Amino acid sequence: MAQIIDGKQISSQIRDELKEKVEQYRQEGIRFSLAVIQVGADPASTVYVRNKRNACAYIGIESSAYELPEETTEEELLNLIHTLNDDPNVNGILVQLPVPPQIREHVVVQAIAKEKDVDGFHMANVGALSMGQPGFVSCTPAGIIQLLKRSGISIEGKECVVIGRSNIVGKPMAMLLLRENGTVTVCHSRTKNLRDVTKRADILVAAVGRPKMIDDSYVKEGAVVIDVGIHRMENGKLCGDVDYEKVAPVASAITPVPGGVGPMTVTMLMNNCVEAGLMASKEKRP
Ligand code: NDP
Repeated sequence: MAQIIDGKQISSQIRDELKEKVEQYRQEGIRFSLAVIQVGADPASTVYVRNKRNACAYIGIESSAYELPEETTEEELLNLIHTLNDDPNVNGILVQLPVPPQIREHVVVQAIAKEKDVDGFHMANVGALSMGQPGFVSCTPAGIIQLLKRSGISIEGKECVVIGRSNIVGKPMAMLLLRENGTVTVCHSRTKNLRDVTKRADILVAAVGRPKMIDDSYVKEGAVVIDVGIHRMENGKLCGDVDYEKVAPVASAITPVPGGVGPMTVTMLMNNCVEAGLMASKEKRP
């Protein structure tokens, strides 16, 4: 039976490390702060925003919330972002996605100063990742690298297959695995003979957005399987993109849903906030 990669435990370990770091830096007068903007009152977004603020409170990062009405214009949102960009007391800015249809997501993301883009979605940060330069990395894939490393799973030289090529998961995941010296293949909806490709994987990352699509017929015996998907089933329970019951017996290690990748996303956001605070404090020094 596969080793279960415990995202809850690894996440709380990293949060404790960050809390300690923040406390140490606070004694040197360095403060950490995150501004979270939510437009409209989508219930899922409200839960995500609350989770982020709770994580900030635990670690010792100051957080401020901007709750804007559903009918906010793009210009109004951009004005707020520009104000926060210029505010030296704010290290990180996050706009909870999705935004209402009158606002263009890509315009908003690019408006955030790259030094405050703790989600890692700004083109400058995406470009830095591709060029192997320092910058903020999208939180979910960054969390997956931590899950692998902290579970003692090496990436170097491994056949890594990522199913999904979204800007926030699939593509940055592929770049990070490459940075760790994996041999990386990215699959998507036009990939032919998907099973033939995924069955080559030593490390298989499923970010496909389809409940339980990946069963044992996609997985090589002994592969490490990372499930990024989150779906609520009719019975109210959560499941991933991987059919856990079928895949766990053939995998060597697997992330459960819930309790695998999910908890790591907010934790890596916190990590980025701490990095942003440290960068800002270095800039302030003479
Ligand atoms: P997207 O819908 O943006 O991307 C899905 C990708 O899967 C696309 O690249 C698509 O291909 C590909 N795909 C869809 N169907 C198939 C198929 N039949 N065969 C092969 N590839 C296919 O999703 P995200 O990347 O945003 O998210 C993926 C999953 O991860 C979702 O379940 C989401 O809820 C979850 N998620 C979880 C997070 C967490 O914190 N745990 C954070 C973010 C996402 P194409 O490009 O050709 O359309």
